[in-house]
Amino acid sequence: MVIIKELTLKETILIDTNGRMNENAGEKLKGLKVNKARETIIKLLQDYGAVDKIEKIKHRTPMCDRSKIPIEIIPMDEYYVKVTDIRDRLIELANELEIIPEQHKQILINWLKVSNDWPISRRRYYGTEIPLWYCNNCGEPLVPEEGKYYIPWKELPPEGSKCSKCNGDKFTGDTRTFDTWMDSSVSALYVTKYLYDKEFFSKTYPMTLRPQGIDIVRTWLNYSILRNYQLTEKLPWKTAWIDGMGLDEHGEKMSKSKGNGVDPTIVIEKYGADAFRFWAVSEAMPGSNFMFSESRLQGSSKFLTKLWNVARLIKQFPAQEDRPTITESDRWIIEYTKKITNECVDAYKKLNPYLPANKIREFIWNVFAPHYLELIKARAYGEGFSEEEKESALYTLNSTFKELLLLLAPITPFITDTIWRELYSKESIHYQNITNFPEEDNTILETGEKLMEFNKKVWNLKKEKKISLRDKISIEIPQELKPFEKDLIKMHNIE
Ligand SMILES: [Zn+2]
Repeated sequence: MVIIKELTLKETILIDTNGRMNENAGEKLKGLKVNKARETIIKLLQDYGAVDKIEKIKHRTPMCDRSKIPIEIIPMDEYYVKVTDIRDRLIELANELEIIPEQHKQILINWLKVSNDWPISRRRYYGTEIPLWYCNNCGEPLVPEEGKYYIPWKELPPEGSKCSKCNGDKFTGDTRTFDTWMDSSVSALYVTKYLYDKEFFSKTYPMTLRPQGIDIVRTWLNYSILRNYQLTEKLPWKTAWIDGMGLDEHGEKMSKSKGNGVDPTIVIEKYGADAFRFWAVSEAMPGSNFMFSESRLQGSSKFLTKLWNVARLIKQFPAQEDRPTITESDRWIIEYTKKITNECVDAYKKLNPYLPANKIREFIWNVFAPHYLELIKARAYGEGFSEEEKESALYTLNSTFKELLLLLAPITPFITDTIWRELYSKESIHYQNITNFPEEDNTILETGEKLMEFNKKVWNLKKEKKISLRDKISIEIPQELKPFEKDLIKMHNIE
């Protein structure tokens, strides 16, 4: 094909659209299918005495992705959108667009640099009809008025249509359809009511975000920028968020023909939508591929069960709204929660749910539940503590747990909303705001690390002695942990 183009030769088309040889192939081949024609050619050459030898060779040939049948290329006239003229401007726009994660911008830029004009007409049965007729007399195309959907292969052109060239009034409709990206590339215009509602459009366009998969950067993302630029001279969105692909357990792309796809409806039925959502965002950084793993999905499900159990425990205690004098143990977990909140909010602002999911899971599993809840349980029940100390525990327990629910709400909307309504308010959690906290002196977090080390030491000691965690133990509380002494004595039953 390239040689023919370079030498500016005119192609002779030998195969018709039904896959049979036409009259250009000669009387002896005409009407034969391609494979049959190949056999016949060999026979003809043999009859002619022109065959020296026959041997098998390996060569590259284009194959149909679905049927795996070799493709025969027939040159045909098609409609194209001119891209090469505005390529430099498109590259500028691609650079202006914020793409998350940033490294995926290069896929788009590299593609734009080498992309050619875009063929937009397709010879397929299903698709958006190309709204054109052609004059039966001279072949001139007839473009109908815009604003209506036309089906030229079965409809006549609008009444009174005349050929602009020869004034003829008999037409034949185009039977082709558009490339699928012709429609999907203007989805931003469709949802912002372009040409239908000026006020709405002016308020909503350009849009904020285009979320999409990495596999269609060269198509959906690319053509959307092109078409929206041509129609509005603007980028259609501020940010594009490019996600990786979900792969099967062996890291293979899921596909219909391989039958290795995972049906999300079955998985969601089994584990719940929240567990599925939590797993999906916690598995990989935005933009990276991730492998499906049922055992890891079970892990997400277990975490949500843990969250539910923590909520059940907290529900036993009355909520304490007014802030009392805060004890050191409580100040520690408040500061820790603030730190987690700031990190999560910053990540959310960068459209990264991976980091919050993992931070919160880590915090609840490894800090909040095993260390903090155990530390203050007795105090929350008021066993051997003053009313003020008890109130500090109740206030802190609820205020920090509220914060954690808010942080999780975008990822696991159902369970957090249910807990929120059970514990805190009739109004949905999704109406609440969450913001960064001012940075504070967090030396207490370092002390908190030592507190957790001490807890682990006591637990290990009891394990070594083969005694229950509730059994008495004699151990010295380090000087720096004196502010937590009262809680620690109760927690570990220290003599
Ligand atoms: Zn005409």
